[in-house]
Amino acid sequence: MDQRTSACPKCRGSMQLGVIADTSYGTIHVSTWQEGPPEMNFLGSLKVRGKLRIGITTYRCTSCGYLESYAKP
Ligand SMILES: [Zn+2]
Repeated sequence: MDQRTSACPKCRGSMQLGVIADTSYGTIHVSTWQEGPPEMNFLGSLKVRGKLRIGITTYRCTSCGYLESYAKP
């Protein structure tokens, strides 16, 4: 994985690679970006079938906490 950001754009602190973890029903997933506006099914869940979905990589500034995210396949 390439290092996209080496310095925080807000305070010039150092950026640390990570992910935003989604927890639900005893499982933990990496948050994903999905194409298009959100559409819900009849159960109230987000429709995901047939949509482009990409895992999100997030960098966190170790000084001010600023987050910068990338969704690249
Ligand atoms: Zn910062």
